[in-house]
Amino acid sequence: MKHPLEPDAGEMRRLIDEAARRVIAHIESLPSQPAQNVEGATDVARTLIEPLPRHGEAYETLLDFLFDEAIPRSFNAAGPGYLAYVPGGGIYHAAVADYIADAVNRYVGVCAAAPLLAQIEANVVRWFCEIAGYGKGSGGVLTTGGSLATLIAIITARKNLLGDDDEGRTLCAPTGEAAATNATGRGAQRAPILYCGDQTHHAFQKSASLAGFTQIREIPSDAEFRVRVDALEETIARDREAGLRPFLLAGSAGTTATGAVDDLQGLARVARENVMWFHVDGAYGAFFNLTERGRARLRGMEEADSIVLDPHKTLFLPFGTGALVVRDAHTLRRAHSMHADYLPAFQQENELVDFCELSPELSRDFRGLRVWLPLKMFGIEPFREQLDEKLDLAAYAAAELHKIEGIEVVAEPQLSILAFRFRDDEQTRALLQRINARKRVMLTPAVVGGRFVIRICIVSHRTHRDRVDMALEDIRNEVS
Ligand SMILES: *Cc1c(COP(=O)(O)O)cnc(C)c1O
Repeated sequence: MKHPLEPDAGEMRRLIDEAARRVIAHIESLPSQPAQNVEGATDVARTLIEPLPRHGEAYETLLDFLFDEAIPRSFNAAGPGYLAYVPGGGIYHAAVADYIADAVNRYVGVCAAAPLLAQIEANVVRWFCEIAGYGKGSGGVLTTGGSLATLIAIITARKNLLGDDDEGRTLCAPTGEAAATNATGRGAQRAPILYCGDQTHHAFQKSASLAGFTQIREIPSDAEFRVRVDALEETIARDREAGLRPFLLAGSAGTTATGAVDDLQGLARVARENVMWFHVDGAYGAFFNLTERGRARLRGMEEADSIVLDPHKTLFLPFGTGALVVRDAHTLRRAHSMHADYLPAFQQENELVDFCELSPELSRDFRGLRVWLPLKMFGIEPFREQLDEKLDLAAYAAAELHKIEGIEVVAEPQLSILAFRFRDDEQTRALLQRINARKRVMLTPAVVGGRFVIRICIVSHRTHRDRVDMALEDIRNEVS
């Protein structure tokens, strides 16, 4: 018998076969699974607390526990009825890629350790740059998600626009004091201000706060939930007069609450005129740039200095896959590059990338493979088709909702999210509960313009017309 941590060929095969059998059965049954099933789940979760195991248990028993007990007690984020939050996907091919990546366990943080594998991931980044509309000289990194990508973007902006000297003084000074005591008149000592919309995802404010910024202006939005460019310009002008320093502007390529796409061309112009870093949060929306309608909506995104994309949302990949792309790859390197004598030499040419030079991470998973394998197997076309279908489905859902007495469509779909309400806040809240109790779809709320709304977010590669019809049927039945 070999050591248990080094299974022989037969055992390795058994482990995979047994897991695959259950995974496949699970995926096949997704359409008939409830959209969510969490009643009492936290109570069961509490019973699981246990000390460090001293002895092993049978593999089958553990798989039974996972597939029969743990996995079913959840929001079914992988199922077709999950129209909540921003759905994830989880295409099967990506899971297979993860199995390969983890099992061969090569190191892609530095190019020298696995040049071809690092290049595979660099290609993925390049494809994302292309999708975002960037040209030559752009670059980026894959992250674990949109939030981390946002944090990296803000830090990159700070390192490039404010410089190290600046940070020390402006960030440590109490609010306002830096400007007041600025005797030298150097721009370096003026408090940097960040601007976003009142609909911007909180990942932006959170990242800005983590990066040490205290002054974030939330600009009001218009009737379609887009940042009011006139209000933005007024606020910036006022801040300038007060001796503050407009530093970074964040636009949304699809907000989470209503899917609103800011006037990205307008925002790009304001950022340019004020010598600010222009960041675009495309965690939900950026991949719609693959479609013709999406491209028309997202015009101006390519003018951003940095763009967050979330392949684990609108590219249907498993959770744990985010991306940051920047117009000028040097900005990332300038912010993150640091060498140590115990590391292999970094690449000096621009073609080959050391990912640790572009991000806070050193050792990490080979996350590029889970994007690369499906994209190489199918090309981009099936992904584009899926996104086009989602745009159609959202438009269809909105048109059908307009026909229902008492329903008000509060946010028409700009991409694949829409929001509606039923008479008043209280009745909307009650309606949401009744829809979700049917468990064919799961919807979630938002508060926009002070009003409670129900969102429908159609993103999953498993959601098609039949499921949207079920959602509409449940809504119709529950309002009457
Ligand atoms: C989901 C989302 C985020 C955060 O991304 P994570 O991958 O969840 O960290 C940021 N912005 C928008 C618009 C999002 O939809």
